Amino acid sequence: MNLEGKTVVVTGSGRGIGKAIAMKFASLGANIVINDIPSSQNGDATAAEITQAGGNAVAIKCDVRNYDEVEDLVKKTLDKYGSVDILINNAGITRDNLIMRMDDADFDDVIAINLKGAFNCIKAVCRPMMKNRGGAIINIASVVGVMGNAGQANYAASKAGLIGLTKSVAKELASRNITCNALAPGFIQSAMTDKLPDAVKEDYLKAIPLSRFGQTNDIADAAAFLASDMAKYITGQVLHIDGGLVM
Ligand code: NAP
Repeated sequence: MNLEGKTVVVTGSGRGIGKAIAMKFASLGANIVINDIPSSQNGDATAAEITQAGGNAVAIKCDVRNYDEVEDLVKKTLDKYGSVDILINNAGITRDNLIMRMDDADFDDVIAINLKGAFNCIKAVCRPMMKNRGGAIINIASVVGVMGNAGQANYAASKAGLIGLTKSVAKELASRNITCNALAPGFIQSAMTDKLPDAVKEDYLKAIPLSRFGQTNDIADAAAFLASDMAKYITGQVLHIDGGLVM
């Protein structure tokens, strides 16, 4: 697999799954745009780690909720590397609670980052991708968007919405040689899942046929495949990476 000369924007890539994707794509020769929220230093640290290892990376801060900031991120990417070939919508948060106790703000924040943020980024990159006569968009959804989850009505709704967004964008942009697919991770070891109670983790483990939690690299490998020429006839799909949890 070779991504030499391709430019990839990975949202929320200062840590966790986004960072693993950025590191993987850098190892395959891509130019990496690390995005992180303005208040965080994680993106700068990840970009420095890639450049120290001999790769090409730049950290550009922006809050994916804000379209003007996203447009500025894309403009800076084009100024630096000349194209946006791959977009990975990875930025995401959880604000779990039972629906009867869920605040409006917890519902709205999760939708604003996980779903509207992806919409903002796709809207901002589609014109330069069309001009470039091709591109790959990968949205990081979740198995929870397919199967639902008690205590995660906001998160599940955002990820189900992301799957609908993926299929619609795939249909709209296919004629321009732009693919759009979703990855649906199951339980992946990261800061997001570290905070779950041990009892919840044990219940998940019992339901996973491969009997282990996923690693961030499991997602990065699948993202690299979907972004590569090997997947150029694949669009509008949701690929579950969950050890067989949902089938
Ligand atoms: P994580 O470690 O919490 O990382 C989330 C990243 O998103 C962080 O870098 C965070 O920035 C960034 N972010 C948050 N709000 C943002 C905003 N408004 N604008 C830009 N960036 C923002 O989570 P993760 O486990 O790696 O998850 C990554 C993605 O995979 C998420 O979409 C998540 O829903 C999905 N997913 C994860 C799992 C899992 O088991 N971990 C399973 C299914 C799906 P800071 O570092 O500055 O906070």
